[in-house]
Amino acid sequence: MLYQSPVSPGRSWYEDTAGSRPEYPALDGDRQCDVVIVGGGFTGLSAAAHLAKAGSNVVLIEAHRFGDGASGRNGGQLGTGQRAWAEEMEAEYGLSRAKALFDLAEEAKAHLLEFAAVNRIEIDYMPGQLSVAHKQRYVDDYKAHAEIMASRFGYPHISFMDAKEAAERLGSTRYFGGTRDTGTGHIHPLKLVIGTAKAAAGAGAQLFERTPATGIVCGGGKVRVTTPKGTITAEKCLIGVNAYGGTLEPVSAAHIMPIGSFIGATVPLGSASTVLPGGESVDDSRFVVRYFRKSKDGRLLFGGREVYAVNDPKDIHIHIRRQIAELYPELKDVEITHGWGGYVGITVPRKPFVREVMPNVISVGGYSGHGVMLSNFFGKLYAETVLGNRDRLKLIEDLKVPPFPGGRRFRAPLLFLALSWFALRDRI
Ligand SMILES: Cc1cc2nc3c(=O)[nH]c(=O)nc-3n(C[C@H](O)[C@H](O)[C@H](O)COP(=O)(O)OP(=O)(O)OC[C@H]3O[C@@H](n4cnc5c(N)ncnc54)[C@H](O)[C@@H]3O)c2cc1C
Repeated sequence: MLYQSPVSPGRSWYEDTAGSRPEYPALDGDRQCDVVIVGGGFTGLSAAAHLAKAGSNVVLIEAHRFGDGASGRNGGQLGTGQRAWAEEMEAEYGLSRAKALFDLAEEAKAHLLEFAAVNRIEIDYMPGQLSVAHKQRYVDDYKAHAEIMASRFGYPHISFMDAKEAAERLGSTRYFGGTRDTGTGHIHPLKLVIGTAKAAAGAGAQLFERTPATGIVCGGGKVRVTTPKGTITAEKCLIGVNAYGGTLEPVSAAHIMPIGSFIGATVPLGSASTVLPGGESVDDSRFVVRYFRKSKDGRLLFGGREVYAVNDPKDIHIHIRRQIAELYPELKDVEITHGWGGYVGITVPRKPFVREVMPNVISVGGYSGHGVMLSNFFGKLYAETVLGNRDRLKLIEDLKVPPFPGGRRFRAPLLFLALSWFALRDRI
């Protein structure tokens, strides 16, 4: 089957504010190397940077431009821990394993900030995250979560907010309370993509854009990745295509499903605005989560995952403005300057997917909307694996991630039905 991959819609505000974005050539000719990496998002670029720094001969190919998948176009929120709350992981795996997974995610957060500092990448880091309840019935969960994080997971940075504090910090009375996390923050993701690519190239990785992998085969102890104008032969291969893999590799495709997520950027709101005076980012308790934050220049970047299909970026403006107005009625006519989207790679249990899908070919993705810090770190863990220590990537590999039910024909419609049900539940 011909390789097809989704293309992200709309021009992002990040593209207009990232500064210079060096172009890399398309591959023309054959290459031999130690490791071939397919996919130029955070996972692939981070792996390339860490491997090249350790002396490996690395070739990375990206179908479009680096960051054109999710990595250069997301909400920029780092979050804390894994996608599921630590106490949910504890209920499933017991305290000690849940704590190990939480600590790994804390290391991922530290790794991202340290990597940016060491490589002098300005990522516009702004501290603080508010997680808020859109229904009264969730407030007690947030209260318990703050206590559990401090008492059982040794994380003292989360505090409970009642409705009054939430309203002050959000500049909106639409939420019923939640938590404030001062140990995390948000970033300009495309700046991190560009900086990571430069770090990888500077360390000697061979980077190619506009070079789609059209097939991956193993034989004679080697991996061969074909592209329109050349074949790369390597000892090992990382598949870091996440939600954008299309028909490239069937096992990853069966486990990671793309769902659209859309963001709108407003004009700068000005110093008189009461929206998010503390500069934190926000995510809410909806299953179809809403996430938003102010940019360094005072715009509201507002995102919502959605189940509808968006064909025209102008539709994004309309939907996002409507969602903004629900929280901030004073912004009902606000000008949206940018509307864009991307695909989040989700898995059935909302846990990352790591698997050796063919001999010496490891696929990493499925961060389920929590990949900004994890994907960068999993790139490093993949590099550790190649260099001889698989233990830490194994912690994630051992999480049980089943394929989506329904096979190739029915899994997309089944997911659509499930998401529609959850979207309905968010409203009742
Ligand atoms: C709109 C949006 C908002 C989000 N917000 C957040 C957030 O606030 N916080 C958070 O933690 N996470 C968020 N995420 C998720 C996060 O962005 C991802 O988890 C993360 O970027 C995944 O990185 P990746 O490198 O694995 O995948 P991607 O960045 O998607 O990279 C995969 C790359 O592979 C390339 N590719 C695909 N097929 C081929 C092929 N055959 N050959 C060559 N290249 C190929 C694609 O073009 C793409 O560039 C969001 C995602 C979206 C879309």
